[in-house]
Amino acid sequence: MLNHENSHTIFNNARNLIPGGVNSPARAFGAVGGEPIVFDRGEGAYLYDVDGNKYVDYVQSWGPMILGHAHPRVIAAIQAAAVKGTSFGAPTLLENTLAQMVIDTVPSIEKIRFVNSGTEATMSAIRLARGFTGRKKIIKFIGNYHGHVDSLLVAAGSSAATLGVPNSPGVTEGTIQDTILLPYNNVEALKNAFHSAGKEIAAAIVEPVAGNMGCVVGSSNFLYELRHLTQENGAVLIFDEVMSGWRVGKSGAGARFSLVPDITTLGKVIGGGLPVGAYGGRADIMDNILPKGKVFQAGTLSGNPLAMAAGVATLRVLNESDPFAAIERKAAMLAEGLEDAARDAKIPAAIEQIGSMMTLFFLTEQDNKIDQHRMSGTTFNGGIVERSTATSSTGGCFSSKITDWESASRCDTNRYANFFWNMLDRGFYFPCSQFETFFMSAVITEKEINQTIDAAAEVFKLLSL
Ligand SMILES: *Cc1c(COP(=O)(O)O)cnc(C)c1O
Repeated sequence: MLNHENSHTIFNNARNLIPGGVNSPARAFGAVGGEPIVFDRGEGAYLYDVDGNKYVDYVQSWGPMILGHAHPRVIAAIQAAAVKGTSFGAPTLLENTLAQMVIDTVPSIEKIRFVNSGTEATMSAIRLARGFTGRKKIIKFIGNYHGHVDSLLVAAGSSAATLGVPNSPGVTEGTIQDTILLPYNNVEALKNAFHSAGKEIAAAIVEPVAGNMGCVVGSSNFLYELRHLTQENGAVLIFDEVMSGWRVGKSGAGARFSLVPDITTLGKVIGGGLPVGAYGGRADIMDNILPKGKVFQAGTLSGNPLAMAAGVATLRVLNESDPFAAIERKAAMLAEGLEDAARDAKIPAAIEQIGSMMTLFFLTEQDNKIDQHRMSGTTFNGGIVERSTATSSTGGCFSSKITDWESASRCDTNRYANFFWNMLDRGFYFPCSQFETFFMSAVITEKEINQTIDAAAEVFKLLSL
């Protein structure tokens, strides 16, 4: 067992100062039991805790750190911005630079506004959609997470699901009465909802690749119908790509699936590890935001120069090095290795992977018997791509076993907790919940991947005893 003495002391003190000892519940280890690790520093593919233990990091701050920790160019950009002053509450050139980079990368975004978190981005996008359409109702999918926005904090995946509080105390019935909840990847339910309330719907918000019930890919049928029905009914389609942006490919899930949402919300990678969110899309919709339009949205620190500098540096490195195909190849290598190792140890499991996002789902015996037919095709509209072609830019590797929150929530969370602690003990930091996504990065090499697969093979054998 690794020594976690310093982590233990620091976390114990934190508990007296901060509710639950953490500033975000996702990091509390509640779903796996035990106490969080307290980190001292990160470098490249590795994290170092306060007891001197070293881990290969597959959490990557829950998504942002696609270039690894403390990337020299990102750090240099933050330092250069900092010496010029940390905040002015006034325009800077860096905001234009990052805006232009995002607009050049994500085809559906014509204009963009920066905020400070993904939560702010989705909250503002919903308000904008309601202001733009003059309608009240929004569609949200079960198991999708869009931050802790009141009207979206129902059936909200990971943290909320993990803690068993799909409806948080403090979120009033009045707040969520205009939220229509639908199952993910279910075309029938979608059609019914639009049939009965189509002209009252201001917006549908969706994670086109869900990352907050574990990684679950939106099916082409489902996303296509969603685009079609929103358009037909004059509702705004919001793709929440706070996690999937730059993760399922450089231009996000919308571009990869050849679908054009009206608004896209972003965060995580675009901040390069600093607090940034953004929402952008059709200019005629975006122009409804104050001061150009009447929909109120503001932020003292929005477009903060340090955050913009980190984002610009991150996207610049990504543009220059174009690591996406290589990252995806490594992600498929890890996914395949974990799946084979689980099979060898007779542990029922399904891996969902697309781009640099993936989840290892531990299945119950019963779910494992469901026929696992992988569909194949070379484009997304052809559906789902076979593992052997997972290195192609349109590929991905997913089974038909986990398609929505219903199927995800049946997974064996005890077995996941066991896997998590045993991997941690061997120096591999995975997310502390079955219902979270883990990530490949530009700096994890085949060496670390092989070490991870070997360690996992050992752990699966222990789990099967
Ligand atoms: C992380 C996440 C959010 C919330 O972003 P925060 O910066 O944590 O507020 C919203 N939507 C999705 C899809 C996310 O993954």
